[in-house]
Amino acid sequence: MMLLELKNVEAAYGNIKALKGINLSVPEGKIVTLIGANGAGKSTTMKTIMGIMKPIAGDVLFKGESIAGMKTHNIVRKGVVLVPEGRQILQNMTVRENLEMGAYQRNDAEGIKEDLSKVFERFPRLFERQGQFAGTLSGGEQQMLAIGRAVMAKPEVMLLDEPSMGLAPLVVQQIFDVIKDINKMGTTVLLVEQNARKALQIADYAYVMETGKIVMEGPAQEVASNPDVMAAYLGGK
Ligand code: ATP
Repeated sequence: MMLLELKNVEAAYGNIKALKGINLSVPEGKIVTLIGANGAGKSTTMKTIMGIMKPIAGDVLFKGESIAGMKTHNIVRKGVVLVPEGRQILQNMTVRENLEMGAYQRNDAEGIKEDLSKVFERFPRLFERQGQFAGTLSGGEQQMLAIGRAVMAKPEVMLLDEPSMGLAPLVVQQIFDVIKDINKMGTTVLLVEQNARKALQIADYAYVMETGKIVMEGPAQEVASNPDVMAAYLGGK
């Protein structure tokens, strides 16, 4: 089943058209990645899915139902959760409070408790630092917290916008391992990345975006071995 589908989606900032007819599908259980250079429109695609931007044409479907133009909190309630670019955790709240905030739309106290234990198990650093202000964490720990918070919302599909941005290589690898684990445990993933090499390694399917359009798509391994993609996004190797 297709969890998420974009059909000919167009979006604009004033008279600058950032999305020029995007078609993209995210099947249940898979990791789909959207790669492309700075300014290609990847973040705009995420914002449009989340209802932060309203498409000027086309449609966004979740489980076949249109969510285009819906309010963000209603989209979250349906099971679509975004880990935004730049982490955006609540710096002056503790690690634990940030995680609890992630579950604010749930009312299954038992399930929330269970998921908090699972997050602490998967992220021992967050467990150790649960009483600490989030703003005092390292960049990598803050990204882990942002992902942990999204897990607490119990999403069906998790959108990640540049989760590896600004992080050291070792931490980047940990982040990608976590994304793979989250997917294995049953969450569908749409991953936006500039680190195309890593993204293509963990993804099932990939879309390549340039100036507001999808210019290529296919199984991630095929996209990774395409000479044009190699030259443009994988350092020509
Ligand atoms: P990045 O990796 O730099 O975030 P991106 O692929 O996510 O790049 P977008 O941020 O979606 O790209 O930007 C797509 C286009 O829309 C760019 O030309 C950008 O300059 C423009 N744009 C983005 N945000 C705004 C804004 N708030 N106002 C005007 N134009 C914007």
